[in-house]
Amino acid sequence: MTNRRHDLVPLLSRLTLLQLVRVAAMGWIAFAPRLTNSASAGRAHTLTVVALLYLVVTAALEAARRRLRVRGLVLVSTLLLTDAVFVSVAVTLTGGPAGPLMPLVYLTVVSTVLLLSYRAGLQLALWYALLLCGARTGALAGYFGTNELEAARRTTGLHAGIDALAVLVAAAVVAMCSALNERRLRERGRELAGLVALGHTLDRAETVEEMLVCLVDQVHERLGFARVAAYLERPDRPAAVAPGDASTLTLPPSAEVGEVTESPGRHAGPRCLRRLERDHPLASLMPGARNVVTIELSVDDVYIGSLAAEWAGSSTRIPVSTVDALAQSAANAALAVRNATLLREVQRLASHDSLTGLVNRRVFDDALRREAERLLRTGDRYAVVLIDVDHFKAINDRHGHAAGDDVLRDVGRALSDTCRSADLAARYGGEEFAVLLPGCGLVDEAVAAAERLRSAIADRARDFDVTASAGIAVAPLHAREPERLVAAADAALYDAKRGGRNRSAVASPSTGPSTGPAAGEAQASFGAGALPASARNTSGVV
Ligand code: GH3
Ligand code: MG
Ligand code: MG
Repeated sequence: MTNRRHDLVPLLSRLTLLQLVRVAAMGWIAFAPRLTNSASAGRAHTLTVVALLYLVVTAALEAARRRLRVRGLVLVSTLLLTDAVFVSVAVTLTGGPAGPLMPLVYLTVVSTVLLLSYRAGLQLALWYALLLCGARTGALAGYFGTNELEAARRTTGLHAGIDALAVLVAAAVVAMCSALNERRLRERGRELAGLVALGHTLDRAETVEEMLVCLVDQVHERLGFARVAAYLERPDRPAAVAPGDASTLTLPPSAEVGEVTESPGRHAGPRCLRRLERDHPLASLMPGARNVVTIELSVDDVYIGSLAAEWAGSSTRIPVSTVDALAQSAANAALAVRNATLLREVQRLASHDSLTGLVNRRVFDDALRREAERLLRTGDRYAVVLIDVDHFKAINDRHGHAAGDDVLRDVGRALSDTCRSADLAARYGGEEFAVLLPGCGLVDEAVAAAERLRSAIADRARDFDVTASAGIAVAPLHAREPERLVAAADAALYDAKRGGRNRSAVASPSTGPSTGPAAGEAQASFGAGALPASARNTSGVV
């Protein structure tokens, strides 16, 4: 008898129920023989003595068991064996197997099978069979008294064997039924526990790829499918397989919606395919698979991907509850994927400009603050370039706002394509852009970078003959604090505009601490002809 960790009903609760059965049996033994007059006065007296003895022994055993709780499980077996001895004596004293107490034998055996384990019930049944045969032999030998001797003589050896066998058969039949039932209940419990575990792992997963891995692992390990594959129907086509690693495999370039589940856009239930044909979208992830259940991954009737699982069982019949658990797992994972996608989108919207795709001013300001802190800590210099599209209002007025938007998109692309990986380009507002250049501590370098950016803008938005002006400030030369550095770049930008546009201008150097009055004033402006040699722009001179 073992204490299994995943019992459907805790062992201690079942033992309590078993105690109730024993109390009921005691009551039966105390009253049934008197009610049916099956025990004479002398036998009733013996029965009472035996019952009292039994009470003392079992009370002591039960007290010890309760004290030891789960550790005292061995005492449960001793209690059952004591019960069996007592019941067998009581049965013998009240007319043998034909007497009124025989049903008690069945009751205790069946309750042990159901409440403890089928193994304990079968052992008890065997023990009863031996005790009943032994009691009959004892009665025939005259150990009990004349009544029992007569009752034993009336029972032939065949009858005694049949009685003992009946107890064993009853125990075996109940054990078989309860084992079948228990197996299904355990499987169901495992499936439910799997769903809960999947919920936890999905919760911890950070990317949709990780979520797909959670799903296929859960289906493979907990639901007993041999191979499982899942993928999402979106441009980057994330996929996962279990067992194995999906990164070594590829899906066909475009698995059409509905190819997998044959019911595009609708919430279709699971389908079973006897084999996965070669041209099936998931065939490359699960080559040669047979008995495959396919399920749509969808949320609110919106299809987002597919799951396929190859049944591992020898029988082609997949239990309905397993398919239900598979569908539920797919639904949970689809919901988590959808939520993660929405969250990522919300985070992107909060940090990026939707028109140009560049980061927004908030992200730029944060990065600028970090760069200012790094300057204080390590002395690493950096520069800021503010860029403004020249006469942009005229483009809007002449060609319409949609054309203006296209120009802004082109400017955004030109900036992100031209920036180094460490640089950060942001849409600062309207048709103004800001670029952070970490590690760029020399004015010449910053001017060269600004000219490169202006040139890229002019090249990209050639259709509308677009030019841009730039204001440049370098930390700590022009200011240390981020706000003052941006103000200095802004003043330089204003200077470039005043100087005729389509040019860069550098802020005037700070005269002392960056809080000094000179910070933020423009110092010099560079058109193509006036640039330092390292920063000469050959195109678009105004
Ligand atoms: P300057 O050379 O002095 O910078 O002149 P400008 O015309 O570029 O500057 P101004 O500030 O006069 O006009 C900027 C215009 O940019 C006004 C505004 O309607 C337009 N604008 C701002 N944001 C957007 C946008 O997202 N899309 C479009 N199409 N236009 C925008
Ligand atoms: Mg402008
Ligand atoms: Mg402007």
